[in-house]
Formats: sequence, structure tokens, C-alpha cells
Amino acid sequence: MPDSPSLNDFLLEALRNGFRSIGQVAVLPSVAAADIGADTRFSLCHESDRETASQGDTSLEPFDTPESARRIALENDAGEYRPLHSSPDLRRGWILHLEGVQNLRLALDFLYPAAIGMWLAHRNGSLEAHSFRDKLARQTGMYRSANRISNTRAQQLLRKLCDPSSGCLKKILWKIDPTTPVASLPPEKFDTATKNGDYTRCPLLCQEACNIAVAEARKEARKEVIVVPG
Ligand code: SF4
Repeated sequence: MPDSPSLNDFLLEALRNGFRSIGQVAVLPSVAAADIGADTRFSLCHESDRETASQGDTSLEPFDTPESARRIALENDAGEYRPLHSSPDLRRGWILHLEGVQNLRLALDFLYPAAIGMWLAHRNGSLEAHSFRDKLARQTGMYRSANRISNTRAQQLLRKLCDPSSGCLKKILWKIDPTTPVASLPPEKFDTATKNGDYTRCPLLCQEACNIAVAEARKEARKEVIVVPG
């Protein structure tokens, strides 16, 4: 396998090939795709504000440092804390101006941690997924009991937690265990289509269940009825 490009080089290549969207964020370069370079200026905004931003409307709240993205990602429109960066409730009404690809990558990492790196690894075929059981089996301390959850409850839990319209935008790459797929979510939840696909949209990939899923699995496992033979 050829050496992987650096993340900045990969991002530059993706931008020149049409990368303009990630999660709920629109990526707006200041020049045409063919002219994009390491020093190009970019703007980021909510996908639903793309048109407003493209028209130069000044009603959007301006930011100009990559670190601002951390603040933007913190709360939804109602001012509520967002524990999951990939939940579909990123707030609207802002525009973030950035100088160069390095700052763009930093800002994207604050909005969607590790998404660009996972995209590159997925395209290279080097992104390794871990099953839900693998993840639960690695837990220690108070979370060790999470792996007692039944497959039935696990399916129910994932249906609610990972629902793309209300829970999480990530695409799931793993199964419950090596022979049990997650059957409680719609097919598009598993449709990554990026290895040989185009660059237009960076997918958000779930390589293994997140810590919120582990914590919820622990709670559900505690509700399981233990039948003791009489
Ligand atoms: S397990 Fe993955 S898909 Fe489900 S909520 Fe967590 S990050 Fe999102």
C-alpha cells in the first residue's frame, strides 16, 4: 500500500475534488476548486445557512479562529449542551472564516473530532471496526456489567440512540457481534459508500460504539430480568 498522505494533504486533495460538506456543516472556499491551495481562505457555516453565507449576507454571527468551532459545537439552538458532536442539532446562524487548510482542518476537528482522519483511513481500507460486544467486553470498573445486556435490548437501545434523524449522524461500521448485524436501524445508517466514491461529502463514521452507548448499555443491562431456575 502506498504511504498515506498527511491529513492536510488529503484534505487539500479532497477540496480540489469537490469536498464541500461534512455532517451539518457547509465548506465554502473563496476560490474555484482548481485554484485551492494550502493558503486559501475558507468559510464554514451550518448547511442550512449555505445560501445566506454564499450571498454575503451579514446576518450570520462571524467568527475567525479554529477554536471558535469548539464553542459553536457546544450547544444547540435552544442553548442545550450537545454531548455528542454528531447529533443532528448543530446550531445555525454563524459563519467561521479561516485562513488556510491547516486552520480549516483544526476547525473541522473541533466540530467533528477525527472525522477527516477516519475518512482517509476508510478510503485506504485501513479503518478497523470493533463490534459492540468487543467494546463492551473491554470495559472495566462500574461499566463491566454493560456486557450483560441482551442482544434484544442492545438492538432497542441502538435504534433510539443512533437514530440518524434524532440521535446521531454517524454511519455504523460494526455489528453487535461478528454474526449479528444491527437490525434495528434503517439501511442508510450503514451506507458509507466512500471507498471508491466521490469526495463531495465527508462521511461521519462510527468505528466502534461511543461511550454514551456503553453507559446506556449498562443502564439497560441492569433492567434485564434474571430468571433463576426454581
Ligand atoms: S454508537 Fe456510534 S452511531 Fe451510535 S450514537 Fe454513538 S457515535 Fe453515534
